[in-house]
Amino acid sequence: MSFSPLEATKLYLSKAFKVLEISPRIQKLLLTPYREIKVEVPIERDNGEIEIYMGYRVQHNNARGPMKGGIRYHPEVDGEEVSNLASLMTWKTAVVNIPFGGAKGGITCAPREMSERELEKLTRRFTERLHIVLGPDIDIPAPDVNTNAQVMAWIMDEYSKYCGYCPPVVTGKPVAVGGIEGREEATGRGVFLATKHALAANQETIENKTFLIQGFGNVGSWAAKFIHEHGGKIIAVSDAFGGLSHPQGIDIPKLIHYQNNNPNRSIVGFPEADAMEKEKLFQLSADVLIPAALGGVITKEIAQNLNVRYIIEGANGPTLPDADEILFQKEVIVVPDIYANAGGVTVSYFEWVQNIQRFAWTHQKVVQELDRIMEKAWKKIREIAARKNLDLRTAAFVLGVGRVGKTVALRGIT
Ligand code: NAD
Repeated sequence: MSFSPLEATKLYLSKAFKVLEISPRIQKLLLTPYREIKVEVPIERDNGEIEIYMGYRVQHNNARGPMKGGIRYHPEVDGEEVSNLASLMTWKTAVVNIPFGGAKGGITCAPREMSERELEKLTRRFTERLHIVLGPDIDIPAPDVNTNAQVMAWIMDEYSKYCGYCPPVVTGKPVAVGGIEGREEATGRGVFLATKHALAANQETIENKTFLIQGFGNVGSWAAKFIHEHGGKIIAVSDAFGGLSHPQGIDIPKLIHYQNNNPNRSIVGFPEADAMEKEKLFQLSADVLIPAALGGVITKEIAQNLNVRYIIEGANGPTLPDADEILFQKEVIVVPDIYANAGGVTVSYFEWVQNIQRFAWTHQKVVQELDRIMEKAWKKIREIAARKNLDLRTAAFVLGVGRVGKTVALRGIT
């Protein structure tokens, strides 16, 4: 049986509902999104033609706080995908116990084929269409696939035209417009921390372990950097254009330098590693695999042939449920996305606090607090997994869903 990412999330939720014995009444409230928005986003392209893009924002749940989630620009963005990712955000913010709900947004577009000026117009128009349902106490966007600090600065600027100077409406901003030190690296740092905790649970460390990393964007490259700094050997990486391998481990700082100076920002052509097809990554043997690109990439067929001991989910929804079952049988430890990639939203929370308090945090404080939150959540997930005899994904869902369910029930609906 094959699952769409949305069906996969529903299945994980149903398992958590069963363990928690959540009433059908509360289940209904947890499953249904609070608000789903689809807007047309027309812009004039550089060639003078009018192009209309479709933009989405799904606000899934606000029981525990303002809704929070990234905005992605990708040709495959659609309402179902955004809705699923919004739901995952609700459980993720609850897993790390920060006072936010869940949301997600996106625009169906091909950003690589657009100029900077066109991307700015697109972002501003999308913000204009959405601004009445955004706000520091309502819904706070952040970067995701193909969006970055510059895009967040445009959102902040556009929103401020309507509502007055308002840095906390968006996170992941450049430091010069109210961003926080350490946000850009935060998801990758969280993936590194999740890796460290997962290995430590088996009395292992990152040093000299071998890693495969799919995706070398924000999440993949920062995770690679921290792992490399702690003695891990990244023996293969891939991006949308191709892959690289090196049995002794790729020199990650050099690769990042190469990528930053490559006009299309790809890793392809790096002279100090062997070129390979990007699809080959999943065929290699290593201790740890970190998927850090798109969802749904670890299918049943891929899982059957994988030769790794750990999977740390940097991407959202990279493993499909039938693959998950095979990995469980193969005793591969899968650290789920709703914990493993929660470092970004956690530091986004610090950024929001910083903006509201108008008091800047130091990088050291950001690192310290992220470390504390990731460790606390990990211990809680492990404790639930051990007590109820569950895999880590189900335990993480039980933790997140349990917290949201409790708040929903206490707040009531009448
Ligand atoms: P990004 O756009 O910075 O990077 C994505 C990377 O994946 C790029 O290197 C791209 O070339 C690569 N890629 C795309 N298709 C590929 C393919 N078929 N094979 C191999 N590589 C491919 O995006 P990001 O922000 O790093 O996000 C990556 C994943 O992490 C997404 O699933 C996103 O939802 C998730 N995530 C991101 C954040 C964040 O803070 N940025 C937080 C939580 C989760």
